[in-house]
Amino acid sequence: MDLFEYQGKQFFAQYGMPVSPGEAVQTVDDAVAAAERLGTPVMVKAQVHTGGRGKAGGVKFAATIDDVREHATNILGLNINDHIVENLWIEVASDIAEEYYASFTLDRGAKKHLGMLSAEGGVEIETVAEETPDKISKIWVDPVDGLTEEVCREWVAKANLNPDATEGSVDILMKLYTAYTEGDADLCEINPLILTPEGKVHVLDAKVTLDGNADFRHELDAYDATQKRDEREAAAHAKGLQYVGLDGSVGVIANGAGLAMSTLDVINQVGGSPANFLDIGGGANADVMSGALEVINDDPNVKSIFINIFGGITRGEEVANGILEAMKRVTIDSPIVIRLDGTNAEEGRAILAPELNDMLRMETTMLEAAQVASDLAK
Ligand code: GDP
Ligand code: MG
Repeated sequence: MDLFEYQGKQFFAQYGMPVSPGEAVQTVDDAVAAAERLGTPVMVKAQVHTGGRGKAGGVKFAATIDDVREHATNILGLNINDHIVENLWIEVASDIAEEYYASFTLDRGAKKHLGMLSAEGGVEIETVAEETPDKISKIWVDPVDGLTEEVCREWVAKANLNPDATEGSVDILMKLYTAYTEGDADLCEINPLILTPEGKVHVLDAKVTLDGNADFRHELDAYDATQKRDEREAAAHAKGLQYVGLDGSVGVIANGAGLAMSTLDVINQVGGSPANFLDIGGGANADVMSGALEVINDDPNVKSIFINIFGGITRGEEVANGILEAMKRVTIDSPIVIRLDGTNAEEGRAILAPELNDMLRMETTMLEAAQVASDLAK
């Protein structure tokens, strides 16, 4: 789960890291009111789940209230890497002497946490990483040992930060490690971490990805409400279905994640394009099948539906009856192509045979069914 910058800062603040005061708003008038309360100068910052906001014009310094109005007007609705700005964060502006980069993430290969720190942070960090990677100081932390202050201090020394920034950086990096591990994050990034002209180290940007598998350990409802989800995925997940939205025109229902993925491959192989991944798991009964058909039928891009079932524990006749019952409950707009194989496939096909027509077809093999469904979608 990706957090907005302001939520990442709230998350960091819970672990005692210094962040600037600010307010999250959604309208120009609220931006102005927030700036009046905070006092100018402020930063007007687009809140989107993508980086590079500064370069895209989504981060602006506002010296006066008129500037706030102008910047908020321009930034709301702005398209940044296909993310439309709907939220702004108005923050008390900081004076910057130097910009650093700091992050923790998991290095799966090393089976350790990877910390990265650079004296050359800011909006050009990708260029630094590409052209002068030695300017990024790395440490690998064994999760069992954790990060000691001693190791952290050596790491900061290697990064060649301004000596004035040493104490503040050690303090923030220790807290960043705690936030990253105790908060069950996949990524905690501060870019820039700044040194102010007064010699204070301060968090100016926050990029946080939390591990959804650990959400039962945390109170994430406030963050969850701001997650941008594919509407189809939200509807499918509400029905308990394993669904991923794609942008093609052949709706897919399959049992088992492996078969569902192969189905996508085969559709692509015959020149079609899948509209989704949907694994209905072991239960191809009428309830599950109706839910799956509803979600797929509601997708305006879907032009045909490929139901690909390989009976295992679920027997062919159960599947066939499930499909027929589901079709009584849901009015389907697109033609359905069924491929039914595995346990009791013959019995299942016999049940479907009298019901077949232009809107409900059956093919013997997966490849043939994929071909027919793809052709129908064109
Ligand atoms: P990003 O472009 O999405 O990474 O957004 P950031 O929040 O990192 O902002 C981009 C750049 O704007 C930073 O690297 C800073 O140079 C600048 N910036 C952000 N906040 C402030 C601030 O409070 N004061 C000043 N002077 N510059 C800021
Ligand atoms: Mg940044």
